[in-house]
Formats: sequence, C-alpha cells, structure tokens
Amino acid sequence: NKEHPQVVVVMVPLPAQGHLNQLLHLSHLITTYGIPVHFAGSSTHNRQAKLRLQGWDTETLTKIHFHDFELPPYDSTSPKIDLSCPFPQHLLPLFEASTHLRDPVSQLLQQLSGKFDRVVVIHDVIMAYVVQDVKLLPNAEAYTFNPISAFTTFLQTWETIPENYKLHFQLQHSTTDIIPKDILTDAYRCMSKEMLEFAMNQFKLLGFKSGWLYNTSRVIEGRYLQLLETIHSTKEETKHFALGPFSPVVIESAENRHHSFKWLDEQEKDSVIYVSFGSTVSLRGDQIEELAKGLEESGEKFIWVLRGADPNDVFAQGDQVTRPHLQQGYEERVKDRGIVLRDWAPQLEILAHPSVGGFMSHCGWNSCMESISMGVPIAAWPMHSDQPRNAILISEVLRIGMVVKDWARRSELVTSSTIANVVKALMASEEGKEMKERAAKLGEGVRESVAQGGVASLERDDFIAYITR
Ligand code: UDP
Repeated sequence: NKEHPQVVVVMVPLPAQGHLNQLLHLSHLITTYGIPVHFAGSSTHNRQAKLRLQGWDTETLTKIHFHDFELPPYDSTSPKIDLSCPFPQHLLPLFEASTHLRDPVSQLLQQLSGKFDRVVVIHDVIMAYVVQDVKLLPNAEAYTFNPISAFTTFLQTWETIPENYKLHFQLQHSTTDIIPKDILTDAYRCMSKEMLEFAMNQFKLLGFKSGWLYNTSRVIEGRYLQLLETIHSTKEETKHFALGPFSPVVIESAENRHHSFKWLDEQEKDSVIYVSFGSTVSLRGDQIEELAKGLEESGEKFIWVLRGADPNDVFAQGDQVTRPHLQQGYEERVKDRGIVLRDWAPQLEILAHPSVGGFMSHCGWNSCMESISMGVPIAAWPMHSDQPRNAILISEVLRIGMVVKDWARRSELVTSSTIANVVKALMASEEGKEMKERAAKLGEGVRESVAQGGVASLERDDFIAYITR
C-alpha cells in the first residue's frame, strides 16, 4: 500500500572490524523499527564480527539476514609498519578483494528490488564500487555511511575546496575558532599513497547517493555536522543524518562475564585505566617494553589488551596470531595492580564498568565513541588514518583527554617516563579530574540524546520516516 511502502535495508560494510562493528549495530537499530535488514559481506569477516559483538542477546542477531559471500584469495602478510606513516598496508589487498562483492551484491539487490517497494542501500564510504549498480534499479536508493568523525570529515572536505571559497566561508561562518590551525596540514593525515588512491577512486562514485549517515551525535559534534551540511548544500541536495552512537549505551551484565570483571569489580570507582589500540596495528617490541614499564612506573591500576593486529582470518590462523612478548615475571610482579589480556576484550563492557576511569587509546572512531558514550576520558595515542585528527578532537576541541604521543613525533619511541606521566596526569591530577568531569557530562548528554525524545532518538525517527516516506 502506498502510504506504508514495504522497505528493506541492505547493508554493505567494508570487511574490517571497526567498520563492520558500526554497521552491525546500525542494523540492529533499524530492525527495532520493524524494518528488515540484509547484511551483505565477506563470510569470514561477518562470522568474526558476529562473534565479537557486545551488548547483544542471541535473539537480536537472528533478526538480521546475513548474506555471506566469499572473497577471492588475497595477500594478507603481516603488517609492515612504516613509522613515518604506519598505515596498515596489509589491509589494502583485502579492500581491493572486497570490490569483487559487486556481482553477488548486485544480484541480491535485484532480487529484493522485485519483492519490495523500496530498497535502501547503506554502504561504507569505501564500498561505493560495490553498489554502483544501485542507480540501475528503479526503486533503490543509496546512503553513504561515513565511519569516521564529523570533525575529521569536515577537515578532509575543507582541504578539497578552493581557497577563495574557503575565505568566503570562513567569514560567513566564523570557522577560525573551530579549526585548530596546526591541523590543516597534510602531516595530520595518515594514509599511504596507495590507500589514498583507492579511497579517492571510491569517492568519485559517490555522486548518486541520497544521503550521508554518521555514527556520531549532534551532542558531540553538532557544529561540525552543521558545517558539513552547509558546505555540501552548495553542491548537492543530500541529507545528513547523525544517528550515533550506534553501539548500546547501557550495558547489561553478560551471563558469562569475561574473567577480567572479577578483578575490575574489586577496584575503586574510576581507578583503572584501560589500555587498548584497536584491531589494526600492533606496537613494536621495544615500544611494548616501554609501555609495560610506563604502566608499572605510573603506580596506577590498569587493564591492558596486548594482542597482535588482526590477521586476515583469526580462525584459519589460530595460534599463529602474533603473540607480543613481555619480559618474564612482569605479569606476576604487577598482578595486584594490573592485568594483561591476550584475548579479544569486551571493550564496551569494560568502558562501562564503574572502576574504569581512563582509556589509553589509538583513537579509532569506534573507541572514541564508546569512550565518550561511557563518559571516560582518553589518553590519545593515534596511529594512522583518521586517528591523529580524532585525537585533536578529543584533546583540543572536546577537552576530554590528553595526548600521549604527539603525532609530529610519530616515528620516535615513547619512553616509559612519558607514558607514566600521562597516566598519572589523566588518572590522578587536577587537570585529569577536570577532563573526567567534562567526559562524564558529555557521556551523560549522549546517553540522554538516545533516550526517547532526545536529539539522537528524534534524528533516528526522522531517518526512518524519510526512507519509509
Ligand atoms: N575491540 C574490542 N576488543 C578488543 C579490541 C577492539 O571489543 O580487544 C572493539 C572496540 O570496542 C571497537 C572496535 O573493536 O568497537 C575497534 O574499532 P576502532 O574504530 O576503535 O579501531 P580499529 O580496530 O578499527 O583500528
């Protein structure tokens, strides 16, 4: 019936943990509106991401229709880290292989197009290649999911617009106060040449989209979202929806709690710093050693996830996953004050735990959003891609964290004393206390925004109303 068109959503994620995670959570959000969601991706990566989901009951997963496609073989030799721009090069062959999903995804879209009044495709910004056939279907439309912060996106967009327009824009919108001067340089972009080229080729295909979706909230980045809307409105009529945070903000205690919670339960409120650098890079051996010493020297309590970077397929490689080495006796020596986790940590639940009062993070966008939503301040140690700019958003714009490693000195080893000082400053200084208060307030705002009637909740309703119009 015309008033209530039958709509189906098809997600096309990039097969990398940080990206998959966000779209899985968005899928869940959309199913809560009673709209069917199909999730089309690489079989291995879908399987891995499902196993790593946090804050979900098993029933939630059954509501999403998974389409697991095989990727062609690709080279995924372990990451070679170039410290001047440590972009994880091993990911690029995977991204290239994923362009081969175009045919199976296109077939799926054709099938659904015959069954539903409207097919709404939500694709990762660097999966545009896969969904270019959407425009051939009479009843399909595509929304580009932007997996990074609005702040970083705004800066990237800013770099591409002509100087004379920038001046005009700056005068009209007084941007001088919101763009820290020193970050408008290439030095704060970390992408290998090959990766940049791959991304740019995808961007060229984005002309047909109906809108942008962000995993952020106006409560966090309202000003930058507004600026993006203003810049884009002069070029094209696309809609921008800030639907985040996608991941749950209230965490139910899992039935089988991770072993670390027994220890966390015994610690005082806000007394533990959680240390983790995401899934895409590992630190060098000598840096791991300094970090171990620094955490010990700080005298603060910590929970440290020390894993190798994600290889191509953790299941196929099993025990061959790199197991970073720590000095003999270290874990035993620090065991009253800190624990080292070697497995996949339930990060969201850890951040939600009352004992956790700080997060040393590489500032991947998921990690930032999770930390902000849980009101936890950040010690920022950015590694690549959008992370250096996220670190600036955290430390200079939102002022809910401090920097461990200045991006300009990225090829240098961070010494144990620097690490110890930052940990102490974040966890036990007046400055750290102020950051914690600001983070707690922001977290509260974010949690309110997703409750009924809150800004994020209303924007989600708007999006659903728009795609079911
Ligand atoms: N994560 C986790 N346990 C780990 C490592 C990572 O749960 O041991 C999750 C984390 O909560 C986040 C995602 O994996 O949702 C990592 O995404 P992010 O964007 O922070 O970094 P990336 O891995 O993409 O560099």
